Amino acid sequence: MSDDLQMNEIHWLMDMFNTVDVGLVVLDKNYQVCVWNGFMENHSGLLPSAVKEKNIFNLFPSIDEKWFKSKADPVFVLKNRTFTIWEQQAYIFRFKNYRPITGKADFMYQNATFIPLTNMRGEVEHICIIIYDVTDVAVNKKELKELNHQLETMSQTDSLTQLSTRGHWEAELRQEFLRIRRNSGHSSLIIFDIDYFKKINDEYGHGCGDEALRQLSQLLKTTLRETDTAGRYGGEEFVITLLDTDSVGAAIFAERLRALVAQTPINYKGIEVNLTISIGFACVCRNFSDHERWIEAADKALYYSKNNGRNKVTDYNELIKNDA
Ligand code: GH3
Ligand code: MG
Ligand code: MG
Repeated sequence: MSDDLQMNEIHWLMDMFNTVDVGLVVLDKNYQVCVWNGFMENHSGLLPSAVKEKNIFNLFPSIDEKWFKSKADPVFVLKNRTFTIWEQQAYIFRFKNYRPITGKADFMYQNATFIPLTNMRGEVEHICIIIYDVTDVAVNKKELKELNHQLETMSQTDSLTQLSTRGHWEAELRQEFLRIRRNSGHSSLIIFDIDYFKKINDEYGHGCGDEALRQLSQLLKTTLRETDTAGRYGGEEFVITLLDTDSVGAAIFAERLRALVAQTPINYKGIEVNLTISIGFACVCRNFSDHERWIEAADKALYYSKNNGRNKVTDYNELIKNDA
């Protein structure tokens, strides 16, 4: 090969070394920088002359020295490659992220490979670290995770009322039923339905009906304890599970709720609309074979309230006592 061609090759290699879109750093055994390519210069703002023969941990105090050495030492000793990935450690060098599409990240996520560099005698006195910018991948993956989480909570939350959806609430009720059966105790289930709700839709429009459902749900939330769960059972039917609450406690809660709703008109575009609700409740009973029987019991009590004047509370246990 002519000297010219050889010179050209070295020149090209240097060009490529400085323009390639990965970071290349060579360190010696004392963790001093020997080589620093264009990618590293551009992202750190430090010229090769400013970092040469300087200790990497002094240059970048944010590097976790113990962790870094746990990756680098085996490369010197065992002559193996090692890797780091952003999911374990987001980056080695804290560089700003300036990519427009992934502007959401403040810094550059990095994967890295540590490779051994052998000298003429086959000894490893230097290692090379290759830094890959994986910000796009990391941001995408994080966004997807967040979206999945959002979707998960969305299917648990009714969009109009922000209460639990029927599926979610019913799964929780089933869990509670099994817990009570195992450990004994008392929990009560309340079901209520708005009285003459069709009339509200007919008189003031569906928008008013929706707003009534929203405001009623807000009101309901203010009456609940941390452990109580409220859900939307159907159109304008709601359920509340009161944990560790017997019939006496449930009756007090239900009566308070009934009175509160009756006293609190709904505001819709400056109009005040009065609402009442009919309530049925059932304290969990050993005779129930499953949680569905528990719902049926509370529903039966609600039916009784509806057929006996509405704006009323009925206890399932009282109902069956009277039947007997
Ligand atoms: P009752 O006292 O017997 O309960 O009388 P009601 O008119 O409330 O009768 P019912 O409970 O059977 O009617 C429910 C009505 O609620 C029917 C439906 O038009 C209305 N509805 C159900 N879901 C929604 C909703 O999401 N928005 C609105 N605006 N109306 C709803
Ligand atoms: Mg109704
Ligand atoms: Mg109804």
